[in-house]
Formats: sequence, C-alpha cells, structure tokens
Amino acid sequence: MDALPAVKHDALTPAAERLAPCRRLLVLTGAGASADAGIPTFRGPGGVWRSHRPEDLASPEGFARNPELVWEWYRERRVQVARAQPHPGQRALALLARHFPAAEVLVATTNEDDLLERAGVAEVVHLHGSLFATRCAGACGWEQAEDRDSERSRRPCPGCGAAVRPGSTWYGEPLPEAELERVLSFRADGCLLIGSSVLVAPVSNIPAEMALAGLPVVEVNCAETPFTSVATVSLRGPARDILPALVDLLTSPTVRDQRRRTAEG
Ligand SMILES: [Zn+2]
Repeated sequence: MDALPAVKHDALTPAAERLAPCRRLLVLTGAGASADAGIPTFRGPGGVWRSHRPEDLASPEGFARNPELVWEWYRERRVQVARAQPHPGQRALALLARHFPAAEVLVATTNEDDLLERAGVAEVVHLHGSLFATRCAGACGWEQAEDRDSERSRRPCPGCGAAVRPGSTWYGEPLPEAELERVLSFRADGCLLIGSSVLVAPVSNIPAEMALAGLPVVEVNCAETPFTSVATVSLRGPARDILPALVDLLTSPTVRDQRRRTAEG
C-alpha cells in the first residue's frame, strides 16, 4: 500500500512555527492554487481562446465589442471548473479553517472558481468576483448566482432589460468594495500566500506591510514571485503537495502546545 507522498521540505517546520501563534490568519490564494486542480490559468493554452488576449475578453471594452464571444469563453470556463475537483491542498485549507484552535482564519482568493467552497471552506472572499455569478451590465444592480448551464446569460436583465454579464472583476475595474473591506478590516497577524504572484493594490500591499511589521508571511509557490523577497518563509512547490503537510503540522499536538504556551506567556 502506498503511503501519502512525503513532502521533504526543510522550511516546513519553521513555517508552521511562525504561523502557529497567529490569532487572525489571512490565507490568500491565487491562480497557482487552482492550476493544481487542473483549471487552466488565464494565460494557459486552450482552444480558440489562444487567438484572444485575456484583456480582450475579460474587460468592459471586450464585452461591449463582442458580448457573445465573452460569454462563450465564460460558459466554457464554467464547464471546465464544474468538471474539476478540489485538490488535497484546497481540502487541507478547509481543515485549517475549522481546526486552527483559538484563531480565526479568513480565506480570500483572486480565483473565480468555487473549488475552495467545494473543498469545504465555509467562507471564501472572492476578490475578483465569481465565475458562477451573473449580473446586470447596466446600472440596476441585479445579480444572481447561476448554475453551470449558464441559461440566464442568454436573456436580458430582469431588472432593467440591459444585457447581463459575468460576475467577474475585469481588467480596469476596481475590486469589489465589500470583499476588499472584509480583508482589510480583518487585521491579520499572519499571512499564508498561496500560488499568488499577481495581486492588485491595495491587497498586494498586505503581505509586504505585514512582513515590515514583523508579522509572519509564509509563501507557497512553485516559482519565485515578487513576494518571495518579503516572505518570512517561502515554500517552493505545488500547493497540492505542500499544504496538506503544512496544515498537518499546524494542527498537530506539538504546535497546539506551542500555541497554548504562547497564549499563556
Ligand atoms: Zn439591470
């Protein structure tokens, strides 16, 4: 019988030790975390979309130019995501959110998919909107969650008759206010940054400011990123392999004892 693949990583224990005393742990996940589940990244190869730049499809201008093309792309992505399964790293985050005692864990993502929700994370803050939301392209504010078949996308807005558009945050658009406020007001004292190389300000400032303030920032990424230089510990490798091992340590009795001692001291 095969054992679980052992993750040999010298920095795992130091990373767990730095995060263990945190009371308000912010988990930020980006494209790399979903790529591990087989979701093509924005710029990955794929079908007819190779001839279009993401900026041309995921932008208000692109939608104004050719809404049907944009919807076709989003419908395809909805199907791709629906077929994908959360990977062990995403399931590990759900465990961490539930079993990191005496601490609050806030999970925020720049991914539009619902893999973290399906992995069991109770609350996911979607900083770039959701692939499974459809909303009014006009100003009436109508929005609804949509199932995989995207039927709603073919009809006008029931509120005002304008076209409807995917609920994603597009190039050139501000991040959704309520979600941004949720992250900024969380006042994290530790940060776990996963598969994220591109964050948009002001979210991108969070890891750097935390590191400057002496708070632990642990990065998990397959490659070096702009955050590697500020990270307290940088773990190099796929989230699907590293997170189960890291969460195992963070929820282990040894680390729990250390947390308790820190709390008492
Ligand atoms: Zn409307």
